[in-house]
Amino acid sequence: MINEFDLIKQLQSLVHGQDRAVTLGIGDDAAVIDPALIPAGHQMVIATDTLVVGRHFKADDKPEDIGHKAIAVNLSDMAAMAAQPKWVLMNLTLPAVDGPWIAGFSRGVSGLLKKHRVELIGGDTTSGPLAIGFTVIGLSKNPKKRKDARAGDLVVVSGELGSAAFALNNPGVNDYCDAQLKRPQPRFDVAEAVIDYARAMIDVSDGLLADLGHICEASAMGAQLDVEKMPVYEPIKSDSQWLDYVLSGGDDYQLCFTIRPEDESLLPPDCTVIGHMCAGSGVTVYDKGQRIEVKRSGFDHFG
Ligand code: ADP
Ligand code: MG
Repeated sequence: MINEFDLIKQLQSLVHGQDRAVTLGIGDDAAVIDPALIPAGHQMVIATDTLVVGRHFKADDKPEDIGHKAIAVNLSDMAAMAAQPKWVLMNLTLPAVDGPWIAGFSRGVSGLLKKHRVELIGGDTTSGPLAIGFTVIGLSKNPKKRKDARAGDLVVVSGELGSAAFALNNPGVNDYCDAQLKRPQPRFDVAEAVIDYARAMIDVSDGLLADLGHICEASAMGAQLDVEKMPVYEPIKSDSQWLDYVLSGGDDYQLCFTIRPEDESLLPPDCTVIGHMCAGSGVTVYDKGQRIEVKRSGFDHFG
């Protein structure tokens, strides 16, 4: 067993200390960032998300996977805003300070922090049932909101949908799907590619229908989707519930955004047009021209 202070020392391994704007990092009562050292023309974009044992992951999941996912879902919110993540705070609630667990967890967190050059600048550590919260601060020249879709816009999604939900219901059956569930990669590549022309944008965390539904509500319009256009990893079709996974499964961490029809030719290769925005409200789904009813519409913690 190690104590809280050793723990904080161990977390120093997550700090690279290369960001000049951070004039004071971990170790004091608070971190300090000098706004004069933030590049001109950027706005600060701030988000936070918590993962709780038994709700978002299992107690015996690999600590590396828990660390990866906890930071991935937070970085994904930055991608959804078309922001570059810069600084994070990490709030850990731990049942015990277990050295090997912390080491594995830190490796999982550190992979994505390094990859996206994000600096850990502080956090808090308490004891209690395992929960991990991050607060991420990013910078964007052009933050993407949910409210900026217009009627006639095309609805686009990155990657494919449903693989993570397939893995949740069929663990250990398909390595690729297991990796999508345990090790999602926030789509900064897509966000950067579309920043100049995407209108409304969101990340698909709670399921396509729920998340696109948020764009519809915020933009005061409806959306029509076409099942035949959905990007799907073919092997998940071996499960009769595959369409539910695609439309409502969640945990995809892909980006869903709208564009003007004339911008379609600019889309990066890994993006698919799946429908369009229209007058009305809510998301309606068509399969071979027939409107279909879809059972669930995303995960609601208090639903
Ligand atoms: P205080 O009692 O003043 O809040 P703490 O003992 O909570 O101080 O934290 C000491 C330092 O360690 C602070 O800089 C804090 O940001 C950092 N810290 C504590 N827990 C974490 C954590 N889980 N991740 C990153 N930094 C942490
Ligand atoms: Mg504290």
